[in-house]
Amino acid sequence: MSKVDKLLEKHAMIEELYDIIRIVDPFTKKVLDTKFIGNYDKKIIGLEDMVYCFDFWRDHTVCENCISARVMNEKRVYMKTEYNGQDVYIITSVPVELDGIPYILEVINEITEKGLLNELQGKDYFEIKKTLKERNQQMITDELTGAFNRRFINERIPAEMLLYDANQQNIVIAMADIDFFKKVNDTYGHDAGDFILKNVVAIITENIRYETDWVARYGGEEFIVFLKNISNEKAFEKFNQIREAIEAKDFLYGDEIIKITISFGMKEFANEQEMTEWVKKADENLYKSKENGRNKVTW
Ligand code: GH3
Ligand code: MG
Ligand code: MG
Repeated sequence: MSKVDKLLEKHAMIEELYDIIRIVDPFTKKVLDTKFIGNYDKKIIGLEDMVYCFDFWRDHTVCENCISARVMNEKRVYMKTEYNGQDVYIITSVPVELDGIPYILEVINEITEKGLLNELQGKDYFEIKKTLKERNQQMITDELTGAFNRRFINERIPAEMLLYDANQQNIVIAMADIDFFKKVNDTYGHDAGDFILKNVVAIITENIRYETDWVARYGGEEFIVFLKNISNEKAFEKFNQIREAIEAKDFLYGDEIIKITISFGMKEFANEQEMTEWVKKADENLYKSKENGRNKVTW
């Protein structure tokens, strides 16, 4: 059985989420196994003679933004976008173990974003590489708040779940939703609302660990906060700490002091769970916080 198949046996869900899955040796950078998923039948440039992982990107040397070394050393998930002269891909790298040997699992999705493809039109190979580098961060960032965006959530949570399987460190998410936010817009105007959104993200970011935790905008005034390697009790405490910091804050907008509160629904990851199930459970807890008077964390 191939290495990818062996992994897929354990994690059927990754098959549904990605176009290409491959296993890379973190030290030699050699591709040990590649699998194209589902109806992904697109012809891929250079596939025939792909020996090293960077061959995919038509680079003849290790990528300057090589993430596999970092993934391995720091046991973290990394993401980047790359271009192979034909299409643009988003790659998520996860450290895994097979029969006690460390490997990098790379899950790859083609990005068929129209805006981006237009932007690349007419540029040469190196210009495209440069543009993509700049876009790397942009693509996973929410423009207004600077938090990660929905795309990041959808790519990153499955990868965090794989990582959980590898090292069994507890992972927790909370769905957070600002209370009565419509009233902020109605009372102080939409720009004030935007200002609050940015500052709420800043407060959340200040309160979580830079290396392992993250906050992403799920939509509107809703966020997902992800915490890694933390007990449920500590996570609950942490979300309460963020909730209190937001409640205590005087948001100074022009001459106005705006006060808001925020509600959280927290849920730890349970083995074998699907991503949608996990997020739904957090959302149900958020709903309970709202029902029970808001400005609460429900676990
Ligand atoms: P609840 O406590 O039940 O969550 O009440 P709420 O008013 O926060 O919830 P509701 O879903 O009724 O309203 C959400 C509001 O968030 C409505 C929408 O105008 C506002 N909103 C969504 N995105 C943005 C944004 O990007 N900027 C601003 N200023 N407002 C936004
Ligand atoms: Mg909402
Ligand atoms: Mg709300």
